[in-house]
Amino acid sequence: MQLYQEQTVRIHNSLTGKKETFIPLNEGQIGMYVCGPTVYSNVHLGNCRTFMSFDMIFRYFRHLGYKVRYVRNITDAGHLVDDAEDGEDKIAKKARLEQLEPMEVVQRYTLDFHNILEKFNFLPPSIEPTATGHIIEQIEIIKEILKKGYAYEINGSVYFDVVKFNKSNDYGKLSGRKLEDMIANTRELTAQDDKKSPQDFALWKKAEPEHIMRWPSPWGDGFPGWHLECTAMSTKYLGETFDIHGGGMDLKFPHHECEIAQAEASNGKSPVNYWLHANMLTLNGKKMAKSTGNSILPGEIFSGENNILSKPFSPSMVRFFMMQAHYTSILDISNDALLASEKGFNKLMEAINSIKSLPEGKKTNFDINTWRQGCYDAMNDDFNTPILIAKLFDAVKHINLIKENTESITIEDKDLLLQTMQNFTFDILGLENKKSSNVDSEKLSGVVELLIQLRKEARENKDFATSDKIRDQLAGLGIQLKDGKEGTTYSL
Ligand code: AMP
Ligand code: ZN
Repeated sequence: MQLYQEQTVRIHNSLTGKKETFIPLNEGQIGMYVCGPTVYSNVHLGNCRTFMSFDMIFRYFRHLGYKVRYVRNITDAGHLVDDAEDGEDKIAKKARLEQLEPMEVVQRYTLDFHNILEKFNFLPPSIEPTATGHIIEQIEIIKEILKKGYAYEINGSVYFDVVKFNKSNDYGKLSGRKLEDMIANTRELTAQDDKKSPQDFALWKKAEPEHIMRWPSPWGDGFPGWHLECTAMSTKYLGETFDIHGGGMDLKFPHHECEIAQAEASNGKSPVNYWLHANMLTLNGKKMAKSTGNSILPGEIFSGENNILSKPFSPSMVRFFMMQAHYTSILDISNDALLASEKGFNKLMEAINSIKSLPEGKKTNFDINTWRQGCYDAMNDDFNTPILIAKLFDAVKHINLIKENTESITIEDKDLLLQTMQNFTFDILGLENKKSSNVDSEKLSGVVELLIQLRKEARENKDFATSDKIRDQLAGLGIQLKDGKEGTTYSL
C-alpha cells in the first residue's frame, strides 16, 4: 500500500480556477513539466522561489510514493528580449555584449543555476532538456500545425494563426482572456509586420544576417519561437497529454496560452490536465526581475554582500522563509521578515534535534496520529506549506513541554514524532538540519554586532585609532563593515 492511496491531494488548477482532486492519468505515476530558466544571466531569488515551489511539490509526490517524471527545461535559444515577438535573442545579446560565444553564455549561467539550486537543496529533475537540443522536434510540430492549417509561412517565418484557431478552439481559456478584447486593446499592425493579426505569434523566425543563433529549416535559416520549445519537450518526454504543467504566474500569458494552442492545433488534444502557477517574489513591494534591476542574487544573501539586508542568511533559512508563504501568494522579502523567520527556523531545528533525548513516559499527552494526519491534510490542500509549518510548531510546543517534564511521550510515539518531523521538514520542505551552524552564525552575528557598537562608541569619542582597528581587523577576517543611513551592517 502506497501513501498516495491513503492521501487525497487537491490542487488549484489555473485552467478551471478551481481546487480539484488530483487524479493522475496512470495510477501511481505522474508526468510534470516546469518551464525552466532562460540562461542569459545569474538566477535571481524570484526565479528560485518558483523553482523551489515545484521542488517542494515534486518532493511531496515522491514522498507519497508516486513515480514522478519531472521535466524542467533550459531555455538556451529563442527567448527574445522583453518576451517580444521581434528583437534580439536574450542569449545572443549577452554574447554580443560580453564578446562570448552564445554557448559560453549558456554554459556559464546553467552552471550558476545548478550551483545555486544545489545550495538550496533542490532535487534534480528527471530530465533537463534544452531548446537547442530539440530543434528537429520543434520543426516537426511546425510542419504539423501548417498541415492542419493553423499557421502560415511568410518571408521565411512561420506564424501561428490565432484568429483561425480561435474559431474552432478557445484561445485565452487559461488566462481568462477573450480574443476580441485582446484585438481591441492592441495597436494596428504596421506595414513592416509580417503577421496577419497582432495576436499571431512566431513558431519560426527568419534569421537576419546578424542573428548568430540560427538553424536550417524547410523555411530557410532561422530559429524557433520561444513558446514552441516547451510544447516540443513536454510532448516528447511526457506525451501529448500529461498531468501537471507549472511555471511562474507571469508565464500564464502568453507563454502557456500559446503552448496550449500549439498542442491543440498540432494533435487536437488538450496537453495538460492540471496547470499550476507559482506567485511572484517581490522586493520592496515590486516584482523581482533581472530586466528591471530590482533583484537580489541568492549569493548576495548568503554572503551578506548587498544593500538590503543587515546580515548574511543561510540557504536553508531562506528556503524556510519561502516555505512560510503559500506558493500561490505573493511574498515580499525584507530584512525584518528574514530576521523573524530565522528565529522560527532555529527553534524548529533545535526542537527536532532534541527529540531523540526526550524522556520516555507511560502516556502521550497529545494525539500524535491526529497531528500527523493534520500535516498531511495541510499538504493535501494544494500544498499548504504555511499551515504545515504551523502544525510542525504545534509539535515544537509539545516537545518543549516534554523537555520540561510538564508533558510526557511514550517510546513508540517518540519514534513516530521524530520520523514525521524529519519527513516533513527535511524530505518534503527540503530544509537541511543546519541548526548547529546556524547557532554559530547567531553567535558570530552577536559578536559582530557588539564590535559594531564598540566602534560606534569609539567614533563618538573621536577615538578613530580604535574604530579603524576594529574595522580593519574584521576586514582581515573577511568580515566587511558597511556604514549606511540606517547604521552599520556587515557581510562575509
Ligand atoms: P526566466 O528565466 O525569466 O524565464 O524565469 C524563470 C522562472 O522564474 C519563470 O517560471 C518565471 O515565471 C519565474 N520568475 C521570474 N521572476 C519571478 C519572481 N519575481 N518571483 C517568482 N518567480 C519569478
Ligand atoms: Zn515554457
